[in-house]
Amino acid sequence: MNAVYVMTENASRGRRYAEPAHPYRGLFQRDRDRILHAAAFRRLTAKTQVLLAGTNDHHRTRLTHTLEVAQVSRTIARQLGLNEELTEAIALAHDLGHPPFGHAGEAALDACLTEAGGFEHNWQGLRIVEELEQRYPRWPGLNLTWEVRESLAFHSKRPHVPAVAEYRVGILQPTLEAQVVDAADSVVYDTHDIDDAFGMKLIRLSDVRALKLWSDAEASLVKEYGELPVSRLVPSVLRMVLARREQAMLAATRERIQDARVTSVDEVKQQRDTLVEEGTSMEPLIKEWRQFLHAKVYRHAAVLQMAERGRKIVQGLFNAYASEPARMPAYHAERASLLPTKRAVGDYLAGMTDRLAVIEYSQLFQSDEKSDRMETLS
Ligand code: MG
Repeated sequence: MNAVYVMTENASRGRRYAEPAHPYRGLFQRDRDRILHAAAFRRLTAKTQVLLAGTNDHHRTRLTHTLEVAQVSRTIARQLGLNEELTEAIALAHDLGHPPFGHAGEAALDACLTEAGGFEHNWQGLRIVEELEQRYPRWPGLNLTWEVRESLAFHSKRPHVPAVAEYRVGILQPTLEAQVVDAADSVVYDTHDIDDAFGMKLIRLSDVRALKLWSDAEASLVKEYGELPVSRLVPSVLRMVLARREQAMLAATRERIQDARVTSVDEVKQQRDTLVEEGTSMEPLIKEWRQFLHAKVYRHAAVLQMAERGRKIVQGLFNAYASEPARMPAYHAERASLLPTKRAVGDYLAGMTDRLAVIEYSQLFQSDEKSDRMETLS
């Protein structure tokens, strides 16, 4: 049953360009479908989550990460009586603006664009759905509902950029549907990054057993099933950790919603703090887990090496295109003469997959970057 604080289609602030209603697909359902059919969405398949896309064929890419986020978000949304279709649309859109090479690529692009205003992936996601996708005869972008765009604006770390600030006037929080996706995103990457780290042999069982969330889950698994081979133990533990955090989130969020006495979306948006949380008892456990991820995975020598290579490629490509925009495909070269050149170059680069960036870089610099194995870890 829908909750009183659910974001309904009737209450939507709608699309920027008016469109007739579809005979049988709802507003948010169409949003979801538009995102799914966008080129930027398909490109997520070859973009880095943490480990370079192409390193092997079974670790997460931005696309599979996005699908996991959508799945967990929908489960939570349904339990809380929220709008599942809106939640799914927000989840599918949440990483559209990511450049190649994950956070290293993002930081590199931000540095390249400092004088032009910088770069941040949520802001870029907004540019993609409002401007960069070209799919419709009469407007740029995907013409999504306000609520999906608002979710991107709210998670942007550049709240004062005019294109982002527009969505934050007079409100302190986005919809609960957007809050669910943000919270689910963290739960999902915290768990799958450990799984991928095992897959890449960056960490060992003896490392993770020091974590309370891990050891609790492993203890109850062993109690029920006895000793398990690592291949079954790791996914089983991670599934339990994810389930525990999901349940904690549901319980804590229900309590917070009740305490805040919110009875409408407007009241949700006027809250000082987000209402979707995992609760204070989970905080130290999650903190411990994340510190481990930072120390042992994100700052692992092999991961840093991939990040450094990504940074070098983004910077090299940016300088080459910015000094000679005609090196870009015609469409982007033309944009470089209409927009500030650096922004047009940034848009082209941000849209690239890891693979395309590596190929372009090796062609431009005739280096061995392609054969200079990206998969140093395999
Ligand atoms: Mg994400």
